[in-house]
Amino acid sequence: MTTAYPEWSRAIRDVADFPKPGILFKDITPLLADAHGFRAAIHAMAEPWREAGVQAVLGVEARGFILGAALALELGVGFVPVRKPGKLPGATLTQEYALEYGSDRIEVCATAIAPDTRVLLVDDVLATGGTLAATLQLAGQLQAKVCGAAVLVELEGLGGRERWPDGVPLQATLVY
Ligand code: AMP
Repeated sequence: MTTAYPEWSRAIRDVADFPKPGILFKDITPLLADAHGFRAAIHAMAEPWREAGVQAVLGVEARGFILGAALALELGVGFVPVRKPGKLPGATLTQEYALEYGSDRIEVCATAIAPDTRVLLVDDVLATGGTLAATLQLAGQLQAKVCGAAVLVELEGLGGRERWPDGVPLQATLVY
């Protein structure tokens, strides 16, 4: 069976062996540069969440900022940046997560949202799922209520969804 992908999805460029050999990088830069494509992508990402009661979007640095901020405007809610370590002033909450070799950290402003705020987590690509799982834990530290997560692209073969809890909605607009 062939899946019909929307016309605008053709603006996502596949770059082989970037940033490392063996990685097929999904480059959304040409899509962002295409006004109609960008708008259509944000509309498609927003669609499942319009009635979900989302009160804030948590977007993951760096491409999750671009899509997340646009999605926040589309949903009429605020945006909270989830950043790499050392970028945010003031009190922060930190979540460490494992990479293939070593570990990484993400941070959020400790007072960004009130407890029980209903949040949507946003990133561009779901690959192995480590980043999104760490963002979910960070949302837990914020005492947020997680409506779910939205990614533009899910790379199904990398099994990221298996690291995501069953009961929490995870919507991917495009699955490859
Ligand atoms: P992961 O934690 O493995 O799910 O990786 C997700 C994060 O890494 C996202 O923030 C993506 O922007 C980035 N990423 C991982 N793999 C790719 C890929 N093949 N193409 C584009 N971005 C990727």
